Amino acid sequence: MDTHATKTQEELIEKIQTLQILLEEMKEEKNRQELLDFPWAGNLGSWYWYIKTNQVICNDQKIFALGFQKEEIPEQIGFEFFTNKIHPDDFDRVMNNMRNHLYGKSPVYDTSYRIRTTDGQWKWFYDKGKITRRDEDGKPILLTGIVFDISEQKAMEELLETQNQQLIELSNTDYLTKILNRKALMEKLDYEIRRINRTETNLCFFMIDVDHFKKVNDTYGHLTGDKVLIQMTQIIQKIIRNTDFFGRFGGEEFIVVFPDCDLTGGLEVAERIRTTIQNSVFEAGIRITISGGLVAYQGETIDQMMEVADRLLYKAKESGRNQIRTL
Ligand code: GH3
Ligand code: MG
Ligand code: MG
Repeated sequence: MDTHATKTQEELIEKIQTLQILLEEMKEEKNRQELLDFPWAGNLGSWYWYIKTNQVICNDQKIFALGFQKEEIPEQIGFEFFTNKIHPDDFDRVMNNMRNHLYGKSPVYDTSYRIRTTDGQWKWFYDKGKITRRDEDGKPILLTGIVFDISEQKAMEELLETQNQQLIELSNTDYLTKILNRKALMEKLDYEIRRINRTETNLCFFMIDVDHFKKVNDTYGHLTGDKVLIQMTQIIQKIIRNTDFFGRFGGEEFIVVFPDCDLTGGLEVAERIRTTIQNSVFEAGIRITISGGLVAYQGETIDQMMEVADRLLYKAKESGRNQIRTL
């Protein structure tokens, strides 16, 4: 190697070093500026991805947010430094989003994902970027973006989602027995009837009323009566299938729905419910019986079906109670 070339190499190295120092300084300055410019919550500043050499320059805040200390920040950061910390369930979505932008299918790269911190926790980042430089052939060479830590918003969203779910459940549940209330039961029945009309399958509708329940209250008190109702729903719950459902229609009246079940099948389960209740000993040694009306759905409206079940129930009561009537 001649001296001229060596000198040029030395000069080059010096120039690179100078540029690196300058870059560091500029980055520091930019970091400070961003902290002032973007005081809104979660902002972690800008990032730049130089695609050709796969070099990422970003605000240190983005790396600190992942749990790294200043001295732990690698000298050279590539794309993978971040992407290999993305949650596996989010990874493909993020990559597709990036690919779509790089191939000109979307005007921006814009996505959110979970990213692993050094202590193994997950944070939510919202990331938005855009190609800001291309070579003469139009190929992207630089992507510039901005990133936010949206973990707190996500946690709040999840909390709201859980609370909403709880509210929905509460609005569908009978406060005493914790089974479906009348509103939820009717909604579910309506849904089931629509399904049955499409699939032409069977459904049985079983209306239950506890016999002489007023006497239970009068003799043992209302609170004991409540416990008997709770125990009775637990007995029924154990007998019916997972696909069956039942709810409290009001007071000591209950409705059980047996989807995909004909009258013979329905009567079998209904009888099992009746006899199990008859043979059970409830709170304070109380014994009860039930009467019921059982109807197989035949294309009528829910109201018509309920009317028939109610009439059958009345007949069961009239004929001495502790029995189930069908058409
Ligand atoms: P029948 O055999 O004709 O059905 O007689 P019954 O006494 O069960 O009928 P009635 O409709 O006259 O009375 C129903 C009773 O159910 C009256 C009411 O106090 C009681 N009841 C309704 N809801 C509840 C409840 O939530 N808790 C308790 N403990 N009792 C209830
Ligand atoms: Mg009643
Ligand atoms: Mg009753």
